Amino acid sequence: MVHSGGIEPTLRTLRKAGVYASIEEFKGKKELVRGDKVFKFKESDFDNPLVSRHLDASSGGTRSAGTRTAYDFEFLTECWACSDAVRFDAYGLTRVPLAMWVPIMPGCGPAWLLSLTKANSVPVRWFSPVEKSGIRPSLRSRMGTNYIVHAGRVSGAKLPTPEYVAPSDASVVARWMADTVSQSGGCCLGTYTSLAVRVCQAARTDGIDMGGMVFIVGGEPITVTKRSEIESAGAVLYPDYTFMEAGLVGYGCINPDAVDEVHLAMDTVALVQYPRQVPHAGTSVDAFLFTTLLPSAPKMLLNLESGDYGVVEERQCGCKFEELGLTQHVHTIRGFDKLSGEGVTFVGTDMVHIIEHLLPARFGGSSTDYQMIEEEDERAQTRMTLLAGPEVGHLDEGEVIRTILDELGKGTDGRRMMTRIWSDAKTFRVVREHPVMTATGKLLPLHIRKSK
Ligand SMILES: [Zn+2]
Repeated sequence: MVHSGGIEPTLRTLRKAGVYASIEEFKGKKELVRGDKVFKFKESDFDNPLVSRHLDASSGGTRSAGTRTAYDFEFLTECWACSDAVRFDAYGLTRVPLAMWVPIMPGCGPAWLLSLTKANSVPVRWFSPVEKSGIRPSLRSRMGTNYIVHAGRVSGAKLPTPEYVAPSDASVVARWMADTVSQSGGCCLGTYTSLAVRVCQAARTDGIDMGGMVFIVGGEPITVTKRSEIESAGAVLYPDYTFMEAGLVGYGCINPDAVDEVHLAMDTVALVQYPRQVPHAGTSVDAFLFTTLLPSAPKMLLNLESGDYGVVEERQCGCKFEELGLTQHVHTIRGFDKLSGEGVTFVGTDMVHIIEHLLPARFGGSSTDYQMIEEEDERAQTRMTLLAGPEVGHLDEGEVIRTILDELGKGTDGRRMMTRIWSDAKTFRVVREHPVMTATGKLLPLHIRKSK
């Protein structure tokens, strides 16, 4: 079929015939039923058996929900490092001092550090938004981070040691960037969208000129407000579209029409869309289905829903990525069954359990008295707003938020790290309002507020 019709038409035909996995099926939260066949998967069933497990990473900082993925070094070289080398060249950043503000293990910091080093863009500083003592990483994770840094130095690469900088201390990063621009004429920071926004706000407060600063950001949706917070300060922003299971899947377009426009990494993945109902919102979206194409990919994915939807189109932009043959553009990317903020993503089903069962049992009211909304506050920061109806009565809001964080953080150290980031960033807030009715009149626990 690929030979006669091409990759995408083949994938669409397969999807129509039922060959795909939804995000719930992939995560093992739901049985996969096709005709009279029933399968129950866990994420590790999708692991590529042909590759080695050299390095584990959890999905903090990418658009995957709570996934732990094992990488083969060959994949880090073939996919990540080559992608980094190509984009740093396209953005004119090969000689610009670079820092990253991403988490230590179990987050994706070490994997990216290795990739950047292989791409000959060794970061000069590594800020981590999480502190070791705060997330209590496993012994394996702690040793992993230390080993990579020290082994790198022994091999002659000057790898930076992670330094804890809380999201509320963004001015530390802003000042470092300003000093670097004045010494070297430029500076680049790779981080989450919301952390980049915080750096720009801190710079503005401190009267720092952001000319010459470049941000490569991802991990959560880039909205009109977030982009303008960064650009109005004089900085340049390039989006990054990554998810753990498949690597870097989108390079920020240099001449974008949309605020989050990326070129699909067509050498690494294939992408088709298919309409699907959103379980908790009474609406339908054109969901993204990804297929991995590299033999070294950590997971073998055939029409896997990533939980995102958006626009996929061919467009002539005249930028370097088009010259390389990456003609498919992807933009207006949003999650439909997950909540993303501060580079952290949880699947909707995790939250639905909390909203429908845990909160009513602990604090009173019924399952329809609570609702979670992902939205942007007046400072362009992503907030998870819990609406709690007045019927519920008196609520200790701090206790409600602690209950949600404790539940989300259960299980792996990756989850503990992700909830810690939300806790430090004060991502949750409680608003005493009736849950929002959707267009169909149904009351649903995860309300999607359509973003601009
Ligand atoms: Zn372009």
